[in-house]
This record gives sequence, C-alpha cells and structure tokens, in this order.
Amino acid sequence: MSQEVRVRYAPSPTGHLHIGGARTALFTYLFARRHGGTFLLRIEDTDLERNVGGAAEEFYNGLRWLGVEWDEGEDVGGPYGPYRCTERLDIYRGHIDQLLAEDKAYPCYCTEAELDAEREAQIAAGATAKYSGRCRHLTAEQREAFEREGRAKTIRLRSSIGETLAFDDLVRGPISFESDGNDFVVVKSNGMPTYNLAVVIDDHLMRITHVTRGEEHISNTPRQMQIYRAFGWEVPKFAHLNLILNKEGKKLSKRDESILQFISQYRDLGYLPEAILNFLALLGWSPGTEQEIFSKDELIALFSLDRAIKSGSVFDEDKLTWMNNHYMKAADRSRVAALALPHLQRAGYVPAQPDAAALDWVDRLVALVKDQLHAAGEIVGFAEPFFRAAEPDEEAQALLREEHVPKVLAGFLAQVEAAEDFVPEAIGVMLKQVQKETGFKGKQLFMPVRVALTGQMHGPDLNQSISLLGPAKVKDRLYGVLSSQK
Ligand code: GLU
Repeated sequence: MSQEVRVRYAPSPTGHLHIGGARTALFTYLFARRHGGTFLLRIEDTDLERNVGGAAEEFYNGLRWLGVEWDEGEDVGGPYGPYRCTERLDIYRGHIDQLLAEDKAYPCYCTEAELDAEREAQIAAGATAKYSGRCRHLTAEQREAFEREGRAKTIRLRSSIGETLAFDDLVRGPISFESDGNDFVVVKSNGMPTYNLAVVIDDHLMRITHVTRGEEHISNTPRQMQIYRAFGWEVPKFAHLNLILNKEGKKLSKRDESILQFISQYRDLGYLPEAILNFLALLGWSPGTEQEIFSKDELIALFSLDRAIKSGSVFDEDKLTWMNNHYMKAADRSRVAALALPHLQRAGYVPAQPDAAALDWVDRLVALVKDQLHAAGEIVGFAEPFFRAAEPDEEAQALLREEHVPKVLAGFLAQVEAAEDFVPEAIGVMLKQVQKETGFKGKQLFMPVRVALTGQMHGPDLNQSISLLGPAKVKDRLYGVLSSQK
C-alpha cells in the first residue's frame, strides 16, 4: 500500500466491551500492523443519553488485556486529538458554521410533533417516510421569527435526489445507494453533532484512510459520503465486517445469555487473552488454510481484508472451548497458578494470605488438572473434591459394595498410617504393596481407592491426587468408608 495506512476503532461508550466490538478493534489493529500503519482509538460519545460512565476505561482495559494496542488515543496522546467527541465540540462548531455559510446545510425548526404528523401522513398515503424539506427554503425572516419564538432547531444537510452513491467495500465489493433527497439531521437540537457528522469530520481530520466497522453501518455510509462531498473531502475506503451469529444463525443479540459476550466476563473467569484473540481473529476472517491456531504475530503477518468473510460467522462455542483448552495446555504452570489463585481464595480453598505450603499446593493442583482447563477459574471445580468428597453416585456405591473392597481399603489405610513420605512416588509404592498383600490389581485396586477418597469414578492422576489430598484427609475418608461398611 503506497499511502500511509491510518485506521481507527471508534466505539461509543455505551456499555461493556462486546466480542463484536473487540473483533472490530482486532481486525482494525491487525490491518494497521500488517501495513505498518497507525491504529487509533476514538471515543464516539455524541449520544449523551446513552453514554455510560467508565465504559471508555473498560474498553481500554479489555483491549489491552487482549493485546490490542493503539498508537493514538486519549490516554496515549497523539497529534490529532482530542480523541473523544465531546472534547471536539469546537472543532465541529467551525465545520457546521462552514456548512451553513455555504448553504450546504440549513436549520430546521420543525417540532417532534410536526415531524411525527408528517411521517404518519406519509405512511398512511403508502409512501416511505422521509423529511419533507419543510425548512429547506425558509427565508431569513422566517428563520428569525422561529428563533424569536425560541424554537429548538436541528441542522439538516441538503441531500440530493436520484444520485448514485457508490463505493467499493473492501470486504463486500461494490455497493451503491441512490440518494433520496431526505435531508438528514447533522446537528441535534441539543447542539451535538450526529454520529454521521462527527464521524466524517473526525475521520477526515485524523487522516483516516480505511474505515473498518461492523456491517450495521453500511446504511450510514451513503449519508457520510454526502457529508464528505459537502466539505469537498476525499472519501476514505470502507470495509464493513460481517455479522456475528448465534447457533440458530440469528444476529447475536446482547441479551442472549447463552453465550458470554463481554470481554470482561472472559477475563474474570480466567480465560487466556491469546485464546480469545485467536478465536476472534477467525470470527469473520479466514487464513485460507486449515490452520486454526495463530499467534498474534502470525495474524499480523497474514491478515488481509480480502479474506474477511462476507456472510455471517457463527459464534462456535465448541471451537472456543477447544481453543481455550489448547492455550491452557500451552501456558506456563506458574501463569495458570497465578490466575487460579484468586478463584481458589474466593472459594475459600486457599487463605487470603497463603503461605509457601498453600502456594505449593495450588501449584501441584494446577499441574494435575491444567490440561483439562479452559479457564483458570474452573480450577475451583477441580479443587472441590480435595475439600469435600463427592456423594458417590449409584455406580460408585455399587463399586464400594463389592466384596473385595474392604480388604483393599484396609490394606491401603495400613500403608498410609505407616507412611513417612507422601509424595506421588511413595503413594505408588504403597499401592503396589497393597496389590502384593491382597492380590488385587488394576481396576480392582485403584477404583475402590479413588471412589473412597473422592466419591468419583473418574478423575486426574490417582497418585498425585492422593498426595495432594494429604495423609490426614486420606485416613479420614478411608476410615469413613470402612466404618460405614461394617
Ligand atoms: N461508534 C460506532 C459504534 O460504536 C462506530 C462507527 C464507526 O466505526 O464508524 O458502532
């Protein structure tokens, strides 16, 4: 690309960082890095009623956690700031004045009630509702009269009729609209620019070369093109990213609770950011090969909008689960242990001020179950049997009733009582001894021990589990089962 690439992610701070928003940010970031360009982050907070306090900070934290870093933004600075719309009001003001002075836009004094009545009449007559242009040709006197009345006003852009507004979308190919003469609002009655106006002024002044955003903004593009034209500015390139769908193939709704949709939820549950990043990269983009595991650097090297997918992408939870497990297995044990620790503390399994022995226990537990985790928080479920043996189900109870079981358990109890060492290797030796003494081996030996100690038929490595349980609990549980069998 000959021109310097400058791209932006421009979220409205209306809530949590959503997977769709994070995906847009990621694709924009990858595109910037792929082309040695600049990625900036701008907070589009022109819709005052919808702004949520702290939302911008949550975006920053969530994106940084994912590893999506920006080069310009309100918290890192940059030559084209401020990077928050409500701090750019003076800039908009100058541009709005210019549009008014050149008669490319005009004040509209219609009240909500008048506009509603107009719309209803159009619909009743079977027409498409659009602004009639009532204030299009007001004389200076008429305007003054409305001003004197103290009427609130909006500002509308003069729109053309029947003009083809075409652009070559980098994802979707050629798209064109016909202008319908609907003079749309560019400044709201509270004086704030609409999104369409602010985005054009900001993208132009911030020298944005490629606008990457969700498909839901395609219909805004012709309006924005008209604003570019009114200013006589060059239109950037557009790339509209596909929709994210649920399993039923419907657009993912923020209310759909069957899927975790916010980045903070994943972080709080102890997911690994590189797994989420990898997953999001494949949600609407394909490398063109079967490869599914990508590091961020690999993605940067490969990413191209040509391979962005047009049709919707289904949020595939099975893939997400698989991918998270893949990264969990690959992660350093100490990293997983550090992520797991607060979860274990919250569950009450590890004290708030853990001593070296407690930390060692966590480390060993992580070693035992890490390969089965998708998120570090799942460690709590794996820790539970060490504190409370599960209630054996029918199958497990039947197993404990087998005739040979008391012999095995009593044999093992004797070993534990005499044990000096309780490391996994020592447990292995003890079980071998029980085998020798009782003649039972394999499943007949291991299953009763496992069920008696954990209440479960299956679980992680037995010797390590027993070692982790510690001699006191092992004795207790063996006594418990043996005495209940008498
Ligand atoms: N503020 C818009 C949003 O959050 C972004 C629009 C754009 O990228 O042009 O959807």
